[in-house]
Amino acid sequence: MATTEPVSLGLPTAPARPLAVRRPSRRIQVGPVPVGGDAPVSVQSMTTTVTADVGATLQQIAELTAAGCQIVRVACPTQDDADALPVIAKKSRIPVIADIHFQPKYVFAAIDAGCAAVRVNPGNIRQFDDKVKEIARAASAAGTPIRIGVNAGSLDRRLLQKYGKATPEALVESALWEASLFEEHGFRDIKISVKHNDPVVMVNAYRRLAAQCDYPLHLGVTEAGPAFQGTIKSAVAFGALLSEGIGDTIRVSLSAPPAEEIKVGIQILESLNLRRRRLEIVSCPSCGRAQVDVYKLADQVTAGLEGMEVPLRVAVMGCVVNGPGEAREADLGVASGNGKGQIFVKGEVIKTVPESKIVETLIDEALKLAEQMEKDGALSGSPAVTVV
Ligand code: SF4
Repeated sequence: MATTEPVSLGLPTAPARPLAVRRPSRRIQVGPVPVGGDAPVSVQSMTTTVTADVGATLQQIAELTAAGCQIVRVACPTQDDADALPVIAKKSRIPVIADIHFQPKYVFAAIDAGCAAVRVNPGNIRQFDDKVKEIARAASAAGTPIRIGVNAGSLDRRLLQKYGKATPEALVESALWEASLFEEHGFRDIKISVKHNDPVVMVNAYRRLAAQCDYPLHLGVTEAGPAFQGTIKSAVAFGALLSEGIGDTIRVSLSAPPAEEIKVGIQILESLNLRRRRLEIVSCPSCGRAQVDVYKLADQVTAGLEGMEVPLRVAVMGCVVNGPGEAREADLGVASGNGKGQIFVKGEVIKTVPESKIVETLIDEALKLAEQMEKDGALSGSPAVTVV
């Protein structure tokens, strides 16, 4: 039986440099999570439950927390929802932001409830501008930051008339106008979003906003659509902005369970080296030269390593054209051909196994590597599998 000496992987290497230096922004604290400054870009989502249903809301927050969500937002359209906020804010393990539309009184309720922040939409809160002084005073006293969340679908009527539609200029003017009202009262504990469903408009809005203020920015493509379309729109828009250093916290909006938003958000950050990559599977798309069923192999390896938390890169390659090269570059890999698979660990061929044994061998070797990496303290990152 072929054996290998234990491979010392050492401490994980630092993530490669991101594409751009982060835009300097002031830092705020959303509960224990810093946003802005040089704080890591955080991932957030929003519950879909009726907030007044405390049990269901806390259950969904727990699921989001398990998926890696760092900040969660809950809607607060009624008094019953406002009444539920103190318990939710207290019991959630991640900071809770109350999302307030229409009724300024719920802003005060959310601050009193101990929410980590409050999101206000100036376009649809009645007499919002008249209430800014009171809100600034209450938020300041409680140390509660405010997100000014401008949304194309609910833009201030005055700006709609001025610009004709929700242009980047209109979105930015709305946000900065509201921020200026808070600034008049000495309140700057603010983050801003200017969301639009069109990634091009959204990107242009955030670029303008980034150039005109130093507030931390919450990125979002609003109403991005079902999972496939929304993932692509968000990845494209966030990728464009984050690659320019713009963006301090992100929310992917999908017509899908919120935990899916977190998976997508985390993957976007990992892809841009804004977060340590976890298990990464590098697999080839297959072609006429493939000598194994690459899709099946990649799926089986992925399923077998699900939940692995170390930053492991696994390559699954369909033939000997690119297979050995990719497999050698990964922590672990297989180059398939002629009914066999050459198994690579850290660049060396450790054995050749029949095709029927490729999956179990890769999983066995991955578990050994993971154990070693955990001993070496690699658990601060996340794993990656590569099928080529
Ligand atoms: S590794 Fe081989 S099978 Fe896979 S895409 Fe490349 S040439 Fe085709």
